[in-house]
Amino acid sequence: MAKRDYYEVLGVDKNASPEEIKKAYRKLAIKYHPDKNPDNAEAEEKFKEAAEAYSVLSNQEKRQRYDQFGHQGVNSGAGAGGFNMEDIFSQFSDIFGGGGSPFDSFFGGSGGRGTRVKRGTNLRIKLKLTLQEISEGVEKKIKVKRHVACKACGGNGAKNGTALQTCTTCGGTGVVRKVSNTMLGQMITTNTCPTCNGFGKIITERCDTCNGEGRQLEEEIIPIRIPAGVVEGMQLSMSGKGNYPARGGQYGDLLIVIEEEEDEQLKRDGQNIIYDLYINFVDAVLGASVEVPTIDGKVKIKIEPGTQSGKILRLRGKGIKDVQGYGKGDQLVHVNVWTPQKLSAEEKEILEKLRDSKSFTPNPGKESKGFFDKMKEFFQ
Ligand SMILES: [Zn+2]
Ligand SMILES: [Zn+2]
Repeated sequence: MAKRDYYEVLGVDKNASPEEIKKAYRKLAIKYHPDKNPDNAEAEEKFKEAAEAYSVLSNQEKRQRYDQFGHQGVNSGAGAGGFNMEDIFSQFSDIFGGGGSPFDSFFGGSGGRGTRVKRGTNLRIKLKLTLQEISEGVEKKIKVKRHVACKACGGNGAKNGTALQTCTTCGGTGVVRKVSNTMLGQMITTNTCPTCNGFGKIITERCDTCNGEGRQLEEEIIPIRIPAGVVEGMQLSMSGKGNYPARGGQYGDLLIVIEEEEDEQLKRDGQNIIYDLYINFVDAVLGASVEVPTIDGKVKIKIEPGTQSGKILRLRGKGIKDVQGYGKGDQLVHVNVWTPQKLSAEEKEILEKLRDSKSFTPNPGKESKGFFDKMKEFFQ
């Protein structure tokens, strides 16, 4: 199913301020909240859709990527879009001003639901791609070492995965509040529960395999589809492929940062490829057929007789695909005429004879445009 435009989902325009976006989302979240619409699948879909749109548009970096690359820029092709209810409620402390502790969003926030879902850390890896891989998109297998739920206990850290006991010190909240009377009135301080270290649950007998941690380090090969046209610095994310938190919770994400491997001959300029071709002066005068490299291999191009140095030839469709799937760039071949630097006596003699020849006198007419005109023509 094609995703709707995030701005359209929230009903705001492209220049909406962060405040307007927040307001629009708050309205939709209240309208489609599952508590208000029990067993209404359509409302739930709308609720999730709005939350996803908000998660992107409320984040300056993500919003920028979205504006530039669309959905591809903020989601990888591989099974992305996994936006679940926990993610959504974790946004609520931000939206409705609940909690107030900076850790609320980290712990999944309570959002009035009383759930405390811990989230594992995100994994970030760099992925180097060649121009060829970028041009067509590529399927990559990434090796990552990450924390996964312990197989022996299922991830809660207790022997055989037996149910955990609610901590009696904090009643399962993971925090203890201390009320003290001071001259200025009552003061409430909140601290991590010393009995359960903030987990809210107590393990009676630890799992031997993970020593009560609930997770194990594992090396995993994760396949990922990189869309064509990605650019250096772009970040793709795979939901749930990050680390599992200690003693249970939700997996973090795997973030893949794109790096572009420099090509020795071909330079990238947006969707276009630029190649500097050097031809000999006789070929420029008499014309020739020369080979040039492209991202799909070598091709032969024709140099017309009388080609001026600085001419730009366009090889249509030999560039890079657009990341959104709209068309493909070109390869621009910049023709440079090579001036020989070491000559034999005989060569010198031949050239001396040509020096005063009438057709060798420079005569730049209308057809030989200068640098400025060429730049305008090809790069605008
Ligand atoms: Zn275990
Ligand atoms: Zn406790």
